Amino acid sequence: MNRPESVANHVLDRLDIFVAEDLLLLDEIVHARGALIHECSMEGAEARLLIGPGKPIISVSTSNYINPYRRRFSIVHELGHLEMHRGNGLLRSCTKLDIQERPAGNSVDAEQEANQFASAFLIPARFVERPFAENAPSFDLISEWSEKLQTSLTATALRFTRFTLEPVAVVYSFQGKIQYFQPSSEFTELGVFPDVNHPVGLNTGARMLFNRKEVSRQWHEVRAAGGFERIEMPLIGGIRLENCPLGCQIMMLY
Ligand SMILES: [Zn+2]
Repeated sequence: MNRPESVANHVLDRLDIFVAEDLLLLDEIVHARGALIHECSMEGAEARLLIGPGKPIISVSTSNYINPYRRRFSIVHELGHLEMHRGNGLLRSCTKLDIQERPAGNSVDAEQEANQFASAFLIPARFVERPFAENAPSFDLISEWSEKLQTSLTATALRFTRFTLEPVAVVYSFQGKIQYFQPSSEFTELGVFPDVNHPVGLNTGARMLFNRKEVSRQWHEVRAAGGFERIEMPLIGGIRLENCPLGCQIMMLY
C-alpha cells in the first residue's frame, strides 16, 4: 500500500466511515477534518488550499464546466494536500493538469500523491475491493460503483484495475488516439501493451465507438475480433465520455 492510500485509510477510520453513503457528505467530512469548503470563481486554478491563521480553506471552482463528480475529486485532492503536505506552504493552487483522476504509479510528486489520496479516499478499498475482485470485469459494475460513490467513470475504472484479479487494462483515448492505459497486475504479467499515442485499431469496436457507430448513452458492449494494432485481445466494451465533447472514451481490454 502506498503512502497516500494508507493516509486515506487512516482518515476514513478516524471519520468512522464504514458505509459508502457517508462518503457523499463531503462538507461534513472536510469540516470534521478541521477545514472549510468555499466555492468561488477562479482563474487558472480548479481548486486551492489556503492554510492561514484560522481554519484551512479548500476553495473549489464554481465553473459550469466542472461536473459534480470532478468537483468532489478536486475537493478531496485538496484534502489530501491538507493531510499530507501541511507544512509545505500556506497557499496551494491546483490546476486542471495537477488534478488528474489518473493516479500515476508510485510517484512522489505532491500533486500525484494528492491524486492518489483522492482516488483511495473516494473509492476506498474497504468498499470496492471485494466486489471488484469477486465480479467479472464489466462496465455495468464500474458504472454502478461510479454512481454509488459519485466518482467519474474514468476514476472508477482505473481503480477497478487495482483490485480485479483478472487480466484487464483500461485504455483512455482522445480523438481516436490512445493517451494512456492502466493495466491490472494480471494484465501486466501478460507482457502486452496497447500502443500509446497511436490510433485505435481500424477494425475494432473501439474505432466503431469513436466513429459514433452503435454508440448510445448507455454502456455499450462491443465485441471485436481484433485488438489494437500490436496486440490481439478482445475488447469487452467502451464508452464515450459524455463530459468530453471532443471525443474521449475509455475502453476495457480483457
Ligand atoms: Zn494539488
